[in-house]
Amino acid sequence: MSSNAAAVLQARELQKEHTKEKLAVLMVEDSPAYAELVLRELRKEPLDLSVALVDAPQQFERRLNESVPDVILADYNLGEWRGVETLDVLRRLGLDVPVIIVTGALGDVTAVECIKQGATDYVLKEGLARLPEAIRRALREKEERRLRRQVEEDLARKVDELARSNADLEQFAYVASHDLQEPLRMVAAYTQLLGERYRGKLDANADKFIGYASEGAQRMQVLIQDLLAFSRVGRKEMVGAEVDCNGVIKDVMVVLSTAIAESGVTISCDDLPTIWSDRTQISQVFQNLIGNAIKFRGKEKPRISVAAGKDGEVWRFSVSDNGIGIPREHTENIFAVFHRLHTRSEYPGNGIGLSICKKIIERQGGRIWVEAVPGGGSNFQFTIPVHGEVAA
Ligand code: ADP
Repeated sequence: MSSNAAAVLQARELQKEHTKEKLAVLMVEDSPAYAELVLRELRKEPLDLSVALVDAPQQFERRLNESVPDVILADYNLGEWRGVETLDVLRRLGLDVPVIIVTGALGDVTAVECIKQGATDYVLKEGLARLPEAIRRALREKEERRLRRQVEEDLARKVDELARSNADLEQFAYVASHDLQEPLRMVAAYTQLLGERYRGKLDANADKFIGYASEGAQRMQVLIQDLLAFSRVGRKEMVGAEVDCNGVIKDVMVVLSTAIAESGVTISCDDLPTIWSDRTQISQVFQNLIGNAIKFRGKEKPRISVAAGKDGEVWRFSVSDNGIGIPREHTENIFAVFHRLHTRSEYPGNGIGLSICKKIIERQGGRIWVEAVPGGGSNFQFTIPVHGEVAA
């Protein structure tokens, strides 16, 4: 071989040496001869091995405190203790290290027992050729466990952060709207007083300006009250009870009787179920949905139908109308706070009703959405768990 070729070969060997996977093995074995047999098998693999050997419980624990190995190969029968007992120590120390039982003979029952107690695998000493693959599998599984734990921890942290930021926002909305009410009440009262005392006594512009200021203050009061109502939904404790939805609809019709009479709407209602819910809140949902169906009526004579049916584990309600409908691209964002598709002069409102409905339904473990009605109109649907628990 030329000296050049020898140098290339040597360099390759060095590189291989460099790229070898590191593996720290802790052997729990009281027979040096067996330990040597196991090592011989492992040395056949392209591994950068570091091996420590212990044979007594105290020694095992001391070794773990010094450094944590990648894998533990434990003999089953160690005289005064057993290899599976290493698992108790690992659990106590909160360590996730795969343990492979390497043993001369192991009955099926004992083997199953070892796995049950948490051993990753077992390898018989006559079948040591299987050991490298058993180690690789154990390490793969450990890595998968680590990744799974990481994903779960990330998710839990994100959920926690979201809950905290939602609670902060809710608190902010509550405090802001609550504390703004008082100064605003003063602005509204004094602009109204100005209007009453000085109307016609200044010039025409002054009357107009005072009118605008007074109207603006009143509008802001309504907005703030709505915002307060929205943040209260999340703060108020829910009172779970059996609620007959037929009774709820009857009450809602009474509240909306003026709008019903003025619009000439026909409301048809199926026989509705009795559900587990918070009566006040579910009434608010029906009132908002039916109120909207009346408000956003089209040119045709308005018709509304309310229906419900069991859909697996949930009750599914629908409130559909033949009104102006909702463009597909807005079917999601109309549920956001203050989101509206029209000016107040076209249709009155503040865009808070549907966001309150969404909050109420989601708090009860349900879902709310809207679909288009073929031929025009909207079909609002929501679900409530059949065996729902009303969270506080
Ligand atoms: P508001 O009724 O005060 O505007 P909502 O939050 O109840 O607020 O509704 C948000 C928007 O969703 C409404 O402004 C309207 O554009 C649309 N919308 C709600 N219900 C209907 C409906 N039944 N038909 C058509 N559009 C609707």
